[in-house]
Amino acid sequence: MSVSRRAVLSGTGVIIGASALTAIVPGQAAAAPRSYRVHTAPATAGSVDSCLVLGERKAVLVDGQLFSADAAQVADLVAATGRTLETVFVTHAHPDHHLGLAVIKERFPAARVVAHPAVAAQIDALAPRQQRVMRQRSGPAIADRLVTVAPLAHDRIELEGERLEVIGPMQGDTAVSTALWVPQLRLLVAGDFAYAGTHLWMREVLSPTALDGWRRSLDLLERLGPQVVVPGHRTPSFGNDPGVFAFTRRYLDSWEAALGTARTAGDMVERMNEAMGRLPQENYLHFAAGAALKGG
Ligand SMILES: [Zn+2]
Repeated sequence: MSVSRRAVLSGTGVIIGASALTAIVPGQAAAAPRSYRVHTAPATAGSVDSCLVLGERKAVLVDGQLFSADAAQVADLVAATGRTLETVFVTHAHPDHHLGLAVIKERFPAARVVAHPAVAAQIDALAPRQQRVMRQRSGPAIADRLVTVAPLAHDRIELEGERLEVIGPMQGDTAVSTALWVPQLRLLVAGDFAYAGTHLWMREVLSPTALDGWRRSLDLLERLGPQVVVPGHRTPSFGNDPGVFAFTRRYLDSWEAALGTARTAGDMVERMNEAMGRLPQENYLHFAAGAALKGG
């Protein structure tokens, strides 16, 4: 029986990894983790992905969304799998990946919420202000509670005796970013190292050093040889495959080329729209272009 390696998209916005669901080789012991699920928020909620890695009875969730409504849908997804949510891993300190965690933690109080120590320290320092700013902008759509994110003692998370590896921290769309590598499924939960079909958050990647750092991170992640790659942000037309690296690299190259010739922020926006087509999260482009160049 041949099985497509492309992820399939259900009508509910939940992406089910077809290759991962069939990743158990007949005759072998069924080791955890066994499969994965992805929830993608709508474009109005940042197109953020949360990825659930499933063992036989337990699960690990990666990233917790921005809005409470999306976090509640992620919690519903966890509940529907029938697994016990043991660990929630946060890839980096941007608010769209952790301000929804209060909702998830309330549904699954026994789950431990963790990050690499450098990420946990940033969340600890930044979260109160992020929450205040986001609630000014979006009101009660943002939870009014914060969850403490505990620093991991080791660069790994265990799921039913199997090791999932924390990669990083290193430069992504922010300087301190991590990904989760699930070797048993050849699954990379890439966080914001990889985007698919949306604008990238370039506001913190304005220097040539940062841009090259992001490319080097992609080199390292690709060398792992993942067969399934879950990006941090996506439009639903993209599957969970290494093609998301190509999209991210094309965007970085286009950004660098446009920055080399644009004279104003307006030029920059125009050139990027020409190079990449109209993409969701155009506000990301406006922020970054305005920071990189004078307006006009
Ligand atoms: Zn993000």
